[in-house]
Amino acid sequence: MLIRNAEVAGLLRDVRLRDGKVVSISATSSPVNKAPSNSSTPASPNDDDIDARGGALLPGLHDHHIHLHALAAATLGFRCGPPDVTDESALQSVLSTAKPDSGWLRGTGYFESVAGDLDRHRLDALRDDLPLRIQHRSGVMWFVNSLGIDSLKLNSHSSGIPAGAVERDASGRASGRIFRADDWLRTRLPASTPPDLATLGAELAGYGVTALTDCTPTNGEEELARFRLAQETGALPQRLCAMGTLGIANASNDRLQIGAHKIMLDEPALPDFDDLIARVRAAHGESRGVAFHCVTRAEIIFALAALRAAETGCGNDRIEHASVAPPELFEEILSLGVSIVTQPNFVYERGDGYLENVASRDIPHLYRLKSWTEAGVVLGGGTDSPFGRPDPWQAMRAAVDRQTATGHSLGPEEALSPEQALALFSPVLGATNTPSETKVPGLQVGSPADLCLLDVPWSIAREPLSADHVRAVFCAGIRV
Ligand SMILES: [Zn+2]
Repeated sequence: MLIRNAEVAGLLRDVRLRDGKVVSISATSSPVNKAPSNSSTPASPNDDDIDARGGALLPGLHDHHIHLHALAAATLGFRCGPPDVTDESALQSVLSTAKPDSGWLRGTGYFESVAGDLDRHRLDALRDDLPLRIQHRSGVMWFVNSLGIDSLKLNSHSSGIPAGAVERDASGRASGRIFRADDWLRTRLPASTPPDLATLGAELAGYGVTALTDCTPTNGEEELARFRLAQETGALPQRLCAMGTLGIANASNDRLQIGAHKIMLDEPALPDFDDLIARVRAAHGESRGVAFHCVTRAEIIFALAALRAAETGCGNDRIEHASVAPPELFEEILSLGVSIVTQPNFVYERGDGYLENVASRDIPHLYRLKSWTEAGVVLGGGTDSPFGRPDPWQAMRAAVDRQTATGHSLGPEEALSPEQALALFSPVLGATNTPSETKVPGLQVGSPADLCLLDVPWSIAREPLSADHVRAVFCAGIRV
């Protein structure tokens, strides 16, 4: 396949793809500032050829933090939190039309700013005709209505409910709040419709995404088999790196790599420190990094202390989110060689809530970007979808304008240039550290033909940073 008249690193070129690779890039024809003239490569009568008409041809985007199965499942439920749903009447109207899946109504992304604390009484008032469960956007809590409580047998004493998982009122009845019990919940819920990775793969391709890192801690052999099948059948065209449990290290192939061992840290319930060190060493023993979920400063400090104590650092360790990161931690992060993978989209999606609810001393430390790049820390971006929206362009825009959904400014001193924002989603973590004013990454002969073609030159696309400019996407040389 030949892509003619594409803008590659600021110059018009013809790019040929074969066997999943970029096999040639023509000599410069002309700088991109007027309408492209005839291409320098002789025409060949191939229907596959594309005239890029001067649009930028970029390396495909890599979402470095996503949860595919949860995202596919979330499309069956409905959103209950900002920015889609911001107050009680909006929540009522979403719920009034919600349709069940496998007998349950299921909402996600709830936050207290919508309608305060939820319990079974509040949920019964919203819907009492079907079992209803709504997930808090932190992912650690579910709210269920009375029919849901009955269906899960939360008031029965012989049901194997994990200790502390079910909150009870003064009379000992379940309040409707369930904490950190997803594994157990799965055993109680009807098998839901298998996640449709094909719809998701197509949606992500529409954003120009050609590679993904799935950061789900529970990924094991079963999930890997599903990913592999989805890739083999073409349902999931993207290259995938899957994090997960220990002991899955031998499953890598060209399209599916095994990534770091994911460790969730939760400040109110931090794990035993020695056990944590043992897990870090075990991951390193599998030649894998560890990726710590850290949203508070205490969680980052705990993770760094465990990495330091393990003394087995492998250069592939990551902190996910780093939502609150005070500068006194930078030196230790640099010295341990830990990468940061963060979510600028939360500035837009959740920023208004942060400005109201986060302690003012922590506001300047929220979802830093520029500070990391200036300190020389390796930085990447991911949407954390379904906890965030899966559109990396929205994340890039928030990285540049640092604006919340209602237009308030959040940490403007942490803003990146559009080119650095693009580099957050480059296949290589840390591409943001290369100072580049207006240059976008070029393409190399021999590199994988995972490409994103825009309908305009980069000089135009860099302002709106919108997925609307994605015109075509190639995964391993195949247009998807
Ligand atoms: Zn996540």
